[in-house]
Amino acid sequence: MRDKRILVTGGAGFVGSHLCDRLLALGHEVVCMDNFFTGSRANVLHLMDNRRFELMRGDVNQKMVLEVDEVYHMACPASPIHYQRHPVRTISTSVVGTLNMLELCREVHAKLLIASTSEVYGDPEQHPQTEEYWGHVNPIGPRACYDEGKRCAEALAISFSRQYSVPVRIPRIFNTYGPRMHEHDGRVVSNFVLQALMGKPITIYGEGDQTRSFCYVSDLVEGLIWLMDSDVDAQPVNLGNPSERTIRQLAEEIIALTSSSSKLRFEPLPEDDPTRRQPDISRAKELLGWSPRVSIDEGLTATIEYFRALND
Ligand code: NAD
Ligand code: UDP
Repeated sequence: MRDKRILVTGGAGFVGSHLCDRLLALGHEVVCMDNFFTGSRANVLHLMDNRRFELMRGDVNQKMVLEVDEVYHMACPASPIHYQRHPVRTISTSVVGTLNMLELCREVHAKLLIASTSEVYGDPEQHPQTEEYWGHVNPIGPRACYDEGKRCAEALAISFSRQYSVPVRIPRIFNTYGPRMHEHDGRVVSNFVLQALMGKPITIYGEGDQTRSFCYVSDLVEGLIWLMDSDVDAQPVNLGNPSERTIRQLAEEIIALTSSSSKLRFEPLPEDDPTRRQPDISRAKELLGWSPRVSIDEGLTATIEYFRALND
């Protein structure tokens, strides 16, 4: 198979930068496009000397044409703090940005992978969540700009597939963590690790009984690439680690791994915060042969090392 020319939108972000690393390591040519809203040059600085890598400042809300074989469309504010501060920009990036990427792929006959999310299930009434579940989303709540934006992105992708036969891949990504998470984006793993390293109180929202299932970034990136390379067209595939834990449990694990003196501090639970979340990954296992390999201890240890070095 010949090497491919691949566009990664949001490539200077957390997941996007790891994806660029992996695609380059596989021998492909990578164009990383980002408007640096939440991403940074620092995440891809180590790639600047690679002649198969190109960094482009650009906004997916603008139309563009670029000769590529594949597009990994990762661009979108992804943490509740960022998307709730900029709801219009967020929904526009999911809808207009995805429309532009679909039109680009239609024009140049490229394959598109859109980064969908477990948020399409909202505060789920089915547990664990399978791809057949339609979700339980508040269309006017504080998370709507993100959740409904991504649901619309999926609908756009399916529509382009039906009407124009554009090949589309739809991973529904569950909570992912690892090095290069934005230091101040308020996501739980980065918050707790930083608080633990600094000996500050660990901020638990609500009682900490809500659950999440955390996937290490290298596992996710592998799943994204396997999905893109598969013939699993135009159907959502959950990608995440089914190992579920409460937020309080996560806090205790991080305190133990950092040998921190931090104490737990309980704060109000944000509106519409999902109560439970766990992926059913049977489809990914069956169709892609994919399942995560990195344990929470290994993944948290690598993440803690990253944040420790960043703050030294
Ligand atoms: P991130 O904020 O680190 O990365 C997003 C990147 O997109 C950033 O580099 C940002 O600058 C860029 N961006 C935002 N708007 C843009 C625009 N209009 N044009 C060009 N670039 C733009 O977040 P992440 O965690 O790496 O998430 C990447 C993708 O994966 C997002 O689409 C997100 O919705 C999805 N996702 C992530 C998770 C997770 O747990 N990390 C879970 C579900 C889905
Ligand atoms: N959370 C918390 N303390 C924090 C940050 C987040 O208790 O400092 C909780 C948050 O309320 C949610 C969970 O951790 O229940 C995951 O939050 P995150 O923002 O990382 O992801 P999402 O809510 O999008 O799954």
